[in-house]
Amino acid sequence: MLNRLELPESVDEVDATRWESFAPFFEELKERPLSPENARDWLADWSHLSELIWEAGALIYIKKSIDTTDKEKEQAFLDFINNVAPQAQVANQALKQRFLMLDLPDEDLALMKRDIQNEVDLFRPENVPLFTELSKLDNEYDKITGGMKAEWDGEEKNLSQLSLYLYDQDRSVRERAWKTTMSLWLGGRKEINDIYTSMLQLRRQVAENAGLSDYREYAFREKGRFDYTPEDCFVFHDAIEAVVVPAAERLYEKRRQRLALDVVRPWDTKVDTTNAPPLKPYQGQSELVRGSLRILEKVDPVLGGYFEIMARENLLDLDTRPGKALGGYCSTLALRKRPFIFMNGVGIHDNVQTLLHEAGHAFHVFETATLPLVWLRNAPMEFCEVASMSMELLAAPYLTKEHGGFYTPAEAARARIEHLEGIITFLPYMAVVDAFQHWVYTHIDEAMNPDNCDAAWEALWLRFMRGVDWTGFETERKTGWHRKPHIFSSPFYYIEYGMAQVGALQVWRNSLQNQTEAVAAYRRALSLGGTKTLPELFAAAGAEFRFDKSMLTELVALVEETIAELEQFI
Ligand SMILES: [Zn+2]
Repeated sequence: MLNRLELPESVDEVDATRWESFAPFFEELKERPLSPENARDWLADWSHLSELIWEAGALIYIKKSIDTTDKEKEQAFLDFINNVAPQAQVANQALKQRFLMLDLPDEDLALMKRDIQNEVDLFRPENVPLFTELSKLDNEYDKITGGMKAEWDGEEKNLSQLSLYLYDQDRSVRERAWKTTMSLWLGGRKEINDIYTSMLQLRRQVAENAGLSDYREYAFREKGRFDYTPEDCFVFHDAIEAVVVPAAERLYEKRRQRLALDVVRPWDTKVDTTNAPPLKPYQGQSELVRGSLRILEKVDPVLGGYFEIMARENLLDLDTRPGKALGGYCSTLALRKRPFIFMNGVGIHDNVQTLLHEAGHAFHVFETATLPLVWLRNAPMEFCEVASMSMELLAAPYLTKEHGGFYTPAEAARARIEHLEGIITFLPYMAVVDAFQHWVYTHIDEAMNPDNCDAAWEALWLRFMRGVDWTGFETERKTGWHRKPHIFSSPFYYIEYGMAQVGALQVWRNSLQNQTEAVAAYRRALSLGGTKTLPELFAAAGAEFRFDKSMLTELVALVEETIAELEQFI
């Protein structure tokens, strides 16, 4: 073919730690004479180059997280994020402008064009150093919280180690762990306040440089929120207050009775109320994979087939090992059009839940593989989490051994109740985190004084978080915003989880009527990638993009009924 680039067919052919490996291709795409005839080829080449560089970055990240003790892998990662990624961003800016000038009439490119136009419009060179400053501050926050350690029975424990004691059946142990954790956070109070004030100053400047009235407006644009407004978020908050908060209060009251307490205190919210030992569903990756495969095949044979491909092609690294990074994720290998799942399984139910969640993200990658350009395959975040959260719910009926899963009916019921209760108690907290940030960025002068942030957080906490008695811990309560990293590192990124959960609950509701149809719609919606708007993606999945009282009333009732049914098994 005339005028096409000889691009590497695999990342193995390039040294991805050096910008020079990619620069000539970007240069060629910038200079190539364009006409209506060769515009599509040019676009396909740019897509291939983007896939190459994204897959290279993903593999470098995966290798580093699988072995954090290997200095060479760490260096490769640093080279990529410090040299390759920023240069690629600058080089891409020029290609984005070329793409917009092409003004291709194709309808399938409409949203891609909208998104790229938005990125170009929002870009200001003078904001680049401000973002560097912000990531330094974010790093300082991480250092402070990562360094929080306390003496516990003669040993030093960090925050995540201390959090395990909140599951202890002995109430005095839980109380001591909670108070120890809170004293660590209050010890960092002044430093964290100072970090946030500095962040607010920088974010105000970022918005001003972009010619926008406040940082909320900037964040909505930057996150590509074209399908909903701050007012829609407020409608969601109000609906949560009216419908979900009373349901959460009912759950806390049930908890109070089961644990035979006078009141539920902040250290009583996590412990299991059935007094049964923790679930131990599997031992080792191959058992987890076999069980999950049987479950996923019950959800849908094609989805089960995708998961089998992942097992066969070594796209799963699921067991914890010394030197592995913490956490779990699903990464996309854009060029091969394959997902990769990483996690730290130790054989508990939480690991089963995480794998089903990440499998939903992985299915998104398989379903979008036939879309011709990489940008068309990326769905908005609000919908990406519908893919994963739906899979947790769709798979839940098959957790029992009789369906190929891991549990007795009583064990499966316990796991499912915990999951469903978690959905109810999460939404009010999500509303606090989101509403707090709406207040902060539209009252930025007041918010520069951390005392006002404390007061705003406290008012929202009292509005949404009822059912737990914080008497005597008012300072701990009003400084709760310190303990939510998103507020510092990813402003406004949180309501996505709430919206996606409402979408996932609707997919699950449909599956209770007709699983085959519901899963077919789910797969169809995933296969649209980013080629449709959020309301269209939700509609394709059989859900409405609506977050009002009537929607939440129906879904909360379904969750509460299902919990009541499951309780008969335990
Ligand atoms: Zn997810």
